[in-house]
Amino acid sequence: MRVLIVEDEHKIANAVKKGLEQEAYAVDAVYDGESGFDLALTGAYDVIILDLMLPKMDGIKLCGQLRRRQVHTPILMLTAKGRLNDKVQGLNAGADDYLVKPFAFAELLARVKALTRRPRNSVGSILTAGDLSMNTLTFEVKRADRPIALSRKEYALLEYLLRNQGRILTKDQIINQVWNYDADVLPNTVEVYIGYLRNKIDKPFRDREPLIRTVRGFGYKIEGRR
Ligand code: CA
Repeated sequence: MRVLIVEDEHKIANAVKKGLEQEAYAVDAVYDGESGFDLALTGAYDVIILDLMLPKMDGIKLCGQLRRRQVHTPILMLTAKGRLNDKVQGLNAGADDYLVKPFAFAELLARVKALTRRPRNSVGSILTAGDLSMNTLTFEVKRADRPIALSRKEYALLEYLLRNQGRILTKDQIINQVWNYDADVLPNTVEVYIGYLRNKIDKPFRDREPLIRTVRGFGYKIEGRR
């Protein structure tokens, strides 16, 4: 698998490069938009990790131009904390997924793996479990066609569960993926957030089967029949 990193913060670019190389990816890193565009245009990569704010050509422009040139390599966009508008713009320009800085490496790796599994040419994606759906392009979550409003963390937690549907995820795995490595996470934080999610996606739908399951002594999973 070949990965291209376009990121002007050398520290981040080099840390990500090193981490991915340890996972047996072949990685090229460049530090400005124009160099990134030239390399990306070759179509030689399986995933592009693209920072939004870049010298010479920004991430949105780079992404849009690539898509117009019919290069459909999956793009993971890196965005600054709290700039929801950037994410929407990035996804509209043709990015496939986004990650907010600062992020845990495990989270980036999970996103990269998810993108390389996805069929080519899919823009955005709908994740489902039973009658629950999440649109990662518009951030809409619905169950039985009723929209559900989630906080950022709840959304991230649900997305992680959905991307691993049917698999039991331990609290440690969840903390590593959903919270940043530098965040103070109390042991019961995961339980608390699972509770919040249940209150929104399971409890209001009493006539339907619960989607989130607790597997005692192990962790949690999400599973739904169609
Ligand atoms: Ca930057």
